[in-house]
Amino acid sequence: MIPLEEAQEFVLSGCPRGEETTVPVDEARLLVTSTGLHAAGAIPPFDNTAMDGFAVRSADVADAPTTLRIVDTLAAGAAPSRAVEAGEAIRIMTGAPIPPGADSVVMVELTETAGDDVTVVQSVPEGNHIRPAGDDVREGDLVFEAGTVLDAAHLGVCTSIGVYDVPVYRRPRVGVISTGDELVDAPVPLEMGQIRDSNRHTLLALVAAMGADAVDLGLIADDEALIRDAMIQGAQSCDAVITSGGVSMGDFDFVKKVLDEIGDMRWMQVAIKPAKPLAFGTIDGTPVFGLPGNPVSSMVSFELFARPGLRKMMGYPNPHNRTLTAVAGANLPRRADGKIHFARVVAEAGTDGRYRVQFAGGQGSHQLSAMASANALAIVPDGDGISIGEDVQVLFTR
Ligand code: AMP
Ligand code: MG
Repeated sequence: MIPLEEAQEFVLSGCPRGEETTVPVDEARLLVTSTGLHAAGAIPPFDNTAMDGFAVRSADVADAPTTLRIVDTLAAGAAPSRAVEAGEAIRIMTGAPIPPGADSVVMVELTETAGDDVTVVQSVPEGNHIRPAGDDVREGDLVFEAGTVLDAAHLGVCTSIGVYDVPVYRRPRVGVISTGDELVDAPVPLEMGQIRDSNRHTLLALVAAMGADAVDLGLIADDEALIRDAMIQGAQSCDAVITSGGVSMGDFDFVKKVLDEIGDMRWMQVAIKPAKPLAFGTIDGTPVFGLPGNPVSSMVSFELFARPGLRKMMGYPNPHNRTLTAVAGANLPRRADGKIHFARVVAEAGTDGRYRVQFAGGQGSHQLSAMASANALAIVPDGDGISIGEDVQVLFTR
């Protein structure tokens, strides 16, 4: 058995970062910036009002109530055509530019209008409800560093600074293959010995949720020629391939035979439970993740190996798993076996603000329903477990 860190570093070393490209902003979500983005102009570009109301000279309303003459109306999008002189006010809508002469805005709720007159019932300080130019972003600011993972707000910021084609690392295409004669992929009655393929659907969803392009390479029988064709085709058409099943020691595990012939693979026994067996390597430079077949194992293996590897390909500056310290809300027993155990747990924030974890259900590597109830993996180091109230490291899965 090899330590987890060694297997993780080996995987990362075989996952090259994707090429730099630009993509339309609406296609950039979950991609990573390949260069820093600077603001070509200020945001907001001009002083504007945060409220519907009246643009005034604050000195004019210092002794409110004061009645002013309404000399103009400014909607959002309109450019001021005249200044506010002493004794005057301009009706103004949220987002409209502050007209020259005005230094404050009185919200409409603090005014009473009668014809062309407005009575301001309360004095307001200078700058009231004015959003100054550059209040969000100043011209020339580094808005996003290279290596920023773009999510919804980032995309809005991109367009607000006029960046409609975003420099990013290319979105990888990640193929997913299931292998096994026992697997069925349809709502048909199962014959004795058959089970349904769950891994491919789970793995496709995990890949897609990361922001990679998930490519369904199908369910392949335990047949050497079919597995060879699928692997070669997958490696040619995708940037990475994830297989599940056939990497353990069984007699019909042709995945191992085929990958050794066509790829440069390392077969590992990692000191973890579940997900001990792991194959990783390349076919003509394309990374191939050979994950174990048991459904929980394949998910845990995805979290520990494929996710960091894919993050590196996507350009994440730090692709490693992130953990935080929680409290055991129940005993998390185990026996010493030289492995780190990853328990499927529910982590919930307690009244003290710390996460408390409990087992999410059955801990067998075939018990996928517990994985569905879980939102985290508790990292239980080798030994006799963690007692209630003790610290425990957790890795959130959602
Ligand atoms: P293997 O690594 O091929 O020996 O598979 C180990 C276990 O995982 C066996 O019980 C398989 O039936 C099961 N398994 C393999 N692939 C899948 C899959 N795609 N969906 C559900 N179970 C699977
Ligand atoms: Mg199999």
